[in-house]
Amino acid sequence: MNVPLLDLHPQTTALREEILQAISEVLDSTQYILGPKVAKLEEEVATYCGAGVGIGVSSGTDALLAALMALELRQGDLVLTTPYSFFATVGAILRVGAQPVFADIDAETFNIDPDKMAEILAEDAKNGRKIKAIIPVHLFGQCADMGRIMALAEQYEIPVIEDAAQAIGAEYPLLEQDGTTVWHKAGAMGLVGCYSFFPSKNLGCLGDGGMIVSSDTIFTETLRCYRNHGAKPKYYHAKIGGNFRLDPLQAAVLSVKLPHLEEWHKQRQANSRIYHELFAGLPDNPVVLPRAIYADSPDAESHNHHIYNQFVIRVPCRDALRQHLQEQGVGCEVYYPVCLHQQDCMRTYGYNEISLPIAEQAAQDSLALPIYPELSRTQQEYVVQVIADFYRS
Ligand SMILES: *Cc1c(COP(=O)(O)O)cnc(C)c1O
Repeated sequence: MNVPLLDLHPQTTALREEILQAISEVLDSTQYILGPKVAKLEEEVATYCGAGVGIGVSSGTDALLAALMALELRQGDLVLTTPYSFFATVGAILRVGAQPVFADIDAETFNIDPDKMAEILAEDAKNGRKIKAIIPVHLFGQCADMGRIMALAEQYEIPVIEDAAQAIGAEYPLLEQDGTTVWHKAGAMGLVGCYSFFPSKNLGCLGDGGMIVSSDTIFTETLRCYRNHGAKPKYYHAKIGGNFRLDPLQAAVLSVKLPHLEEWHKQRQANSRIYHELFAGLPDNPVVLPRAIYADSPDAESHNHHIYNQFVIRVPCRDALRQHLQEQGVGCEVYYPVCLHQQDCMRTYGYNEISLPIAEQAAQDSLALPIYPELSRTQQEYVVQVIADFYRS
């Protein structure tokens, strides 16, 4: 049997006519830069995420870059972030001339650990407050501990840029002062939220695309300006921005897909439950399954406490299992094999010297299994069988 890590055919087939219609509307409009399709999607995504204003950008990477540029970070400024993420998180920091400070992750969620953040921020306060921004990443579709993170950010008055590239629609149960729990969407809790529409994300376009959201009206004006070469008005440049614009073609396709996003999340969540059930049925299960840590919060059943952009297990003999799965026709991938502080390009900055043991361990034993919405139960049974066979032999 063949089980790909991700199969976009079912989604594309189901929406084919609507997508082609949306594309031909853009074609016939001759409006190929920004315009009504982008404005429409910006409104739809901001509404969906409960996040004020949306600004369509060229990718998730450019969302992070534009947000950091708009904060006007300088050489010597530091940005507190996680060592366990896609490279774009740290790439954006370095590209504006700032430097990352890494807080190790939580072993259970792979997300940045607020206790480690608190230690680093206390140290930074003694050293003259060089940390000018915090970038938590909501990895694999589960929010970082935003209650604790926002409390720290407020204490030290540091803006938070949420890297929600893998988590559009994921929700976090924020405990209010009166003891009630209010669920907030990823990207809507910090100063800005950054989304990616890369095809493998839960909401993907036909190429590259992204979105920034923010409820801060002054900051969104600044962001809009940075998206378009820092021009305001046209041909007058008070700032040095870039070309970070979202294509109307991609926006039109995304407007077709967005109404289906909740249903796709639900299917991914159902697939996660099936994996849990199947692995629980194995005699001696060597696999550590992902844990949805907000599942026990009030009203969790009616909220996206996890959207499973990736279903990441932790296993012994990871690389041999990975090879075995591939030989048996099962797609899988390692997110991520090298921590950010251990990347070659970080060597010149001296980061290779530091030790972040929890993230380094995750890079050794994590493996993503297929979890896409249309995955069948039979396919999941096969995946679990192949894994069981591997450990039995
Ligand atoms: C995908 C991703 C990005 C970058 O998004 P692109 O649209 O591919 O540029 C940034 N951060 C994380 C955590 C991602 O997963």
